[in-house]
Amino acid sequence: MSPDSYPLYFYELCAYNGAMQDPNPWTDARSRLEDAAKQTDLDPLLHARLAEPDRVIEVSLPIRMDDGRIKTFRGYRVQHNNILGPYKGGLRYHPRVDLDEAKALAFWMTMKCAIIDIPFGGGKGGIAVNHKELSEGELERLTREFARKLAPVIGPDKDVPAPDVNTNAKIMDWIRDEYEKVTGENAPPVVTGKTLEHGGSRGRPEATGAGGALALQSILKTLGRDPKGMTVAIQGFGNVGSYLARYLRKMGCVIVAISDSKGGLYIPRGIADLDAIEACKEKSGRIAGCYCVGSVCDLSNMESLGGKDIQPEDTLTLPVDIVVPAALENAITKENADKIQASIILEMANGPTTPEAEELLAEKGTIIITDVLANAGGVAVSYFEWLQNKHDEPWDEEHVFTALQQKMDAAAANVAEVADTRKCTLREAAYLVALERLSARA
Ligand code: NAD
Repeated sequence: MSPDSYPLYFYELCAYNGAMQDPNPWTDARSRLEDAAKQTDLDPLLHARLAEPDRVIEVSLPIRMDDGRIKTFRGYRVQHNNILGPYKGGLRYHPRVDLDEAKALAFWMTMKCAIIDIPFGGGKGGIAVNHKELSEGELERLTREFARKLAPVIGPDKDVPAPDVNTNAKIMDWIRDEYEKVTGENAPPVVTGKTLEHGGSRGRPEATGAGGALALQSILKTLGRDPKGMTVAIQGFGNVGSYLARYLRKMGCVIVAISDSKGGLYIPRGIADLDAIEACKEKSGRIAGCYCVGSVCDLSNMESLGGKDIQPEDTLTLPVDIVVPAALENAITKENADKIQASIILEMANGPTTPEAEELLAEKGTIIITDVLANAGGVAVSYFEWLQNKHDEPWDEEHVFTALQQKMDAAAANVAEVADTRKCTLREAAYLVALERLSARA
């Protein structure tokens, strides 16, 4: 697709998300690796293997649009490293998807799978597309074309994709189905995050949010702090942010602000009804303005609730105990780090804090619960789904959540212990844990 044929909304989206995306995530990911390598006796060969992805796949995806025109999209799959097992990681549909973003996300998957101690490597990919502009039929044709192009390089023991931003269980079902048509195999574990009817796992939709809450709980315990009454602002109210909000509330936290890409709302005394807001967003297409009292959700309730509308970026700088970036990379940069008032950042998005911002935050003593630990619950339950598919043995919800809790508790305790003994940040500790596991298997 030539830039001339990009519709206007493409440019608007890029301009809108520009502030969040500007620093190059792959440069940031590489600098994290270099920092970690300096703190450990990393074998130079392993260092070189981690410094570049094993394989990069770029595919052209021509499809017929509903109006008969042919449009060509670009798709990527990056296979970063498979020392610990098959490549594993999500597929993202977003106009900003590109190779450097996919390389960074794949690298973080390698680290994450090592930290959470599952036998997978790191992969990631996606399509540069504004999914909102596609009909259901166009989305399915695009996904099936992507699956056909990826079929030679993915597989249950090779590379196992999963959902990420703007992809979901239905998209995973299409990929499984198309892969099986191409290969002639019955291959449920070729993707995870499928619907239950097509081999998905109980608990997978909630897993990343639930895992984030468990990671926070474990780290707060090591700090001798109680989550009860802590105020929380969440940027990004999609799969991860919306489930996290519910789990944090169960732990006694007070959710005071939530936002999506169009804006959000801030109610200092606490947001009472997350279900009603979700229903309102479903109807109106935005969270801003969804002030809910009973079944009435509109601006007329704003004053009585003591709330106000906020811009997506304002979510991060509110006077709260915990801020949660749960949208995209580079939400916290050197431009806004100084304005962050929370003492804890729970990184549910991948790569939301740039290294420069982190230095500024370290001076203030802000605790960052790093992405590669905080959002590892998703890939943990993806692993459980893969195991269930392999053994043709579905687990009940209790089994899934007990196993998730064990994984998150063990990983958080391990990272916290290394941070304590090495007198380093949780992020540095997490990378040390990952490099140690990779070194043992390399
Ligand atoms: P999603 O598509 O379900 O939701 C993304 C949310 O972010 C939407 O509410 C969107 O409106 C919002 N958003 C986008 N740009 C924004 C902006 N500029 N300001 C505020 N909000 C904005 O995606 P998701 O699956 O919830 O993923 C969110 C993040 O979590 C991503 O970084 C993803 O890589 C990471 N993650 C997801 C999983 C998973 O299991 N889905 C696992 C690990 C990590």
